[in-house]
Amino acid sequence: MSESATQELAVVIDDDYTMRLSCGKILTKMGLRAETFEDGARGLEGVATLKPSLVIVDLKMPGISGMEVISRVHEIDPQITIVVITGYATIDTAVEAVRTGAYDFLPKPFLPEELRLIVNRGLERHHLAVEAKQHEIDQSMLKRRFATFISHQLRTPLVAIHQYLDVLRHLEQENDVPRAKRHEWLDRCLTRIDELQSLIGDWLTLAQVEGGMLSKERVKVDLNSVISGILKTYEGTALEKKVTLQAHLPDNSLYVWGDRNCLSVVFDNLITNAIKYNKPDGTVTVSGSQSRGEVVIAVADSGVGIPEKCRPFLFEEFFRVRDDASKKTPGTGLGLHISKKIVSEMGGTIEVESEVGFGSTFSVRLPAWCEPAEANGEQSNARREANIDRR
Ligand code: ADP
Repeated sequence: MSESATQELAVVIDDDYTMRLSCGKILTKMGLRAETFEDGARGLEGVATLKPSLVIVDLKMPGISGMEVISRVHEIDPQITIVVITGYATIDTAVEAVRTGAYDFLPKPFLPEELRLIVNRGLERHHLAVEAKQHEIDQSMLKRRFATFISHQLRTPLVAIHQYLDVLRHLEQENDVPRAKRHEWLDRCLTRIDELQSLIGDWLTLAQVEGGMLSKERVKVDLNSVISGILKTYEGTALEKKVTLQAHLPDNSLYVWGDRNCLSVVFDNLITNAIKYNKPDGTVTVSGSQSRGEVVIAVADSGVGIPEKCRPFLFEEFFRVRDDASKKTPGTGLGLHISKKIVSEMGGTIEVESEVGFGSTFSVRLPAWCEPAEANGEQSNARREANIDRR
């Protein structure tokens, strides 16, 4: 690629030859490619074909006025940054130019460093605008992909339920079909309905987390009690799967600064996964500790483990390991994605260590809550809250 193709482009539109020449020189010295035009009509043609990052335009020109150039440049591409230069600067014209779409205003005559400063600021604004636009495009593509995927995920169990009910209707018409056979088809329907319910549930939780609806509250939460409650809820499920649940939690509370419901979602998900992807006679051990302003909770299982090549994708939405354990176990592939989002919103991290055939350990680190008096020399809860909000 030639150098000019990689250089960032700035267009100068001014009827004053000396001004075009000196602006061009300053811009070239800054490492930019500069194209100059002597009036608005030619300048707009140039902008339409060259699509520059920045346009420097004089307000007073014969023919198309500078103000009109500003609005027409933005019709071509709203992300182009426009800087106005004029020898007839008044507050009113400056305000009008900015209202019309100019980013900055430089009265003539000006020093080279003044132009350099404004051009650099303008280019920075242009890069941010391009980045924001790209982000918007990525988000909308993601949403479209997400909608397609979700409709597929919803339709698959519905089609299956429809087929099972057809079979059941057929069986109903035959007199000698044993009751157990009918129950088998009913059970299949119920399993598929459970799958639908968890998908809809996870999907709603994700929508709430992404909409910032779940994790706004920041209060003192005792993780010790959250985790003990979850372990109690799953005693029956673990027993059915012949999995032993163990808790190695300290006698004192493990306070963090967060939202109780969200934290329950995280540990509920990690603990159910540790049971779901376990082996008969396996164990799930949840341990907790606090040190250096941080609470660490580790959920360890002796289950099937996660292959190394899958670990980088584990927290992506809808990711599921393609192994026998996942095929046999219903799941949506959303739980870890949701958990990671919640934990990072609360200023924490979530990591996994795993060995195929031997089990996995998910470690969650969260900023500990500390008494305001203890915050002496350390980061206070209020400051920590402000930092988290800025993320
Ligand atoms: P789900 O369990 O609903 O499929 P998750 O997002 O919670 O979704 O997990 C994503 C995938 O990661 C699971 O499908 C499974 O393949 C794998 N996984 C999660 N936790 C474990 C675990 N403790 N042991 C083995 N594999 C796991």
